[in-house]
Amino acid sequence: MTAGARASAPPDSAGPSPRRLRPSDPVSRIPGVGAARAARLAEAGFPTVAHVLRHLPFRYEDRRRFGRVAELVAGEPATLFVRLAGARGHRMRRGLLRIEALADDGSEAIRVVWHNRYASFLQAAQSGRSAVLYGAPAVTPRGELRLENPETEFFEPEEEADPLHSGRIVGVARRVADLSPRTWRALVRRALDALSPEFEAASGASAEVAAAIEAAQFPAEMADAERARARLAREELVALAARIEDKRARLLARPGVPLSADDALRKQAAEALPFPLTGAQRRAVAEISADMRSGRAMARLLQGDVGSGKTIVAGLALLLAARNGFQGALMAPTEILAEQHMTSLAAWLGRAGVRVALLTGRVRGKPRQAVLAGLERGSIDVVVGTHALVESPVRFRRLALVVVDEQHRFGVAHRARLFRKGASPHVLVMTATPIPRSLAWAIYGELDVSVLDEKPPGRSAVTTRVRAPEARARVYAFAAERVRAGERAYVVVPAIEEGEREVAATRETAARVTAAAPGVAVGTLHGRMPPDERSAVMADFAAGRIGILVATTVVEVGVDVPEATVMIVENAETFGLAQLHQLRGRVGRSPRPSWCVLVAGERATDAARERLVLLEKTTDGFVIAEKDLEARGPGDLLGMRQSGLPPLVIADPFRDLPALGEARREVLRRRARGERLASDLFGYREEPPPRDERE
Ligand code: ADP
Ligand code: MG
Repeated sequence: MTAGARASAPPDSAGPSPRRLRPSDPVSRIPGVGAARAARLAEAGFPTVAHVLRHLPFRYEDRRRFGRVAELVAGEPATLFVRLAGARGHRMRRGLLRIEALADDGSEAIRVVWHNRYASFLQAAQSGRSAVLYGAPAVTPRGELRLENPETEFFEPEEEADPLHSGRIVGVARRVADLSPRTWRALVRRALDALSPEFEAASGASAEVAAAIEAAQFPAEMADAERARARLAREELVALAARIEDKRARLLARPGVPLSADDALRKQAAEALPFPLTGAQRRAVAEISADMRSGRAMARLLQGDVGSGKTIVAGLALLLAARNGFQGALMAPTEILAEQHMTSLAAWLGRAGVRVALLTGRVRGKPRQAVLAGLERGSIDVVVGTHALVESPVRFRRLALVVVDEQHRFGVAHRARLFRKGASPHVLVMTATPIPRSLAWAIYGELDVSVLDEKPPGRSAVTTRVRAPEARARVYAFAAERVRAGERAYVVVPAIEEGEREVAATRETAARVTAAAPGVAVGTLHGRMPPDERSAVMADFAAGRIGILVATTVVEVGVDVPEATVMIVENAETFGLAQLHQLRGRVGRSPRPSWCVLVAGERATDAARERLVLLEKTTDGFVIAEKDLEARGPGDLLGMRQSGLPPLVIADPFRDLPALGEARREVLRRRARGERLASDLFGYREEPPPRDERE
């Protein structure tokens, strides 16, 4: 920090004691920020002082030495301190102006052109006005150098020597609420100058952080800015890690009804089960029952690749709840999936004496009333459903377990509402999205994790091939051949847009498939179909009345038809790798050999095809997830937004998140030393944990 910068804060701007600001204060408390500006800042996503301080420059200019107009080179950006002359405006569309002026810095003059400016800009560019320009000059057809649309900062005459904006390294931040770079810089300066001294004194770490904010906003040297940014990124991760730790602590603190299995129940369960469990399933069941016995409420993630057999594990947990006299709920993201769970669970849970009911949007009228009444009375033990479970006035008599299937498909809000149904139910969330290890803790750090890393026996390997569009007819004919042998095939089309296009895409593809597969019944399935019709189609497909099913990605999650052996994906390059892996998981569900054919579209680039080839080489969901992460970033892949964690502002969610593990150790270290986490700056306040988990 420089003394000059400090001195520049208007000493008289904010009433009695300006150095009282805290990062959590509203921006209106920054000296010189009036109500109107505060409102605009808040609207732009900058409600607090911390938001302002965290908004770091994306670029720095060394204004200790300006470039000279006489030395400008075409194509090379430079920062100039100039006087403007002869500004003229030419009217363009929508009342905007094209403005031209001469800029002179004493070494030479250069013509400057600004496009699409308001009249106020022309006023500001009046003759004699000083300005800092940043940009790269270009050569005009007439062989002159010209500066087009440079970033421009006008100076008031009395500000020319202002040490805030010149004679130093100056940061340029992304524009907020349409404030000029200079107005913004002054705002940040005033906020920093007014910060309460306790902010720095509060703890060892925060003095360092305060210094880093100063250095990132107003660096003395270029290298300081970079170092400071890295320091702040680390601190932001520490704040994030602290939140995850707190969330975990809150979850662990919830009391839960102790549910336990005696030998009789174990024996009964073993007899009811349709098949022996895999080793991985047995381990998961053991971990889950230890949780449910403990007297604390379970908060566990069951992670397992597609087809690893998560449903049955959930079923055993539901059985445990039911046989202890409590109720359980299983929430699935689609009606198809809910119905499928109902079919697969109801049979064997029924054999074990559990009363199971289905509740989706389709269950209406009398049957719906009956289910609602049964849940309230306690005459239904287990309910399987969609988000209808949380939306309608469903009341449970004694809910003790909530299972959320394919949890990445649900928003935080849905999940939270279900959490609220019981006092503090045991919660098991399941996902088939393999989470790269580097990110698992960032996304699910607050949960205990069980992993199903073993496939049930009797599964075939799936042979995967990438094919050109010309191969389509042959591919369809191959599918037809498998269907004639008693098997089933999917053809998945990308739903480029939901709606009519989706309907048209499935219909067109179905026509092509029909032409190439004579004598085979072809059906279609898409999101626009009424739920009744969808279930009917699925039932026909499962029973073999439909041989080839042309569908959108509604079949992506969880659909289980063991006879299906061929998965054809159209325009495969438009899907993420992890999503293709999910689709591929719909086949290979029996001992018969299975195939996945990825048809690249006419317009697929070589690079896109190359990416698909990875799926020919591996079936390891983790490898695929890592690749997807590289290509698309974590937000997309993992539903970071749905994780309910705050977005990162300074740290790079892609590059820096893997360092979150280190940040967590830092949290534990600081807490062990009794240090506060002075991360007010990142919206993290240490506060007593709330009584239950409701975010
Ligand atoms: P996912 O983990 O993708 O949800 P499912 O629970 O749908 O997997 O199981 C996939 C298929 O494997 C189902 O048909 C299920 O009945 C079957 N399955 C699950 N566990 C076993 C097992 N231990 N032995 C044999 N088949 C199993
Ligand atoms: Mg499943």
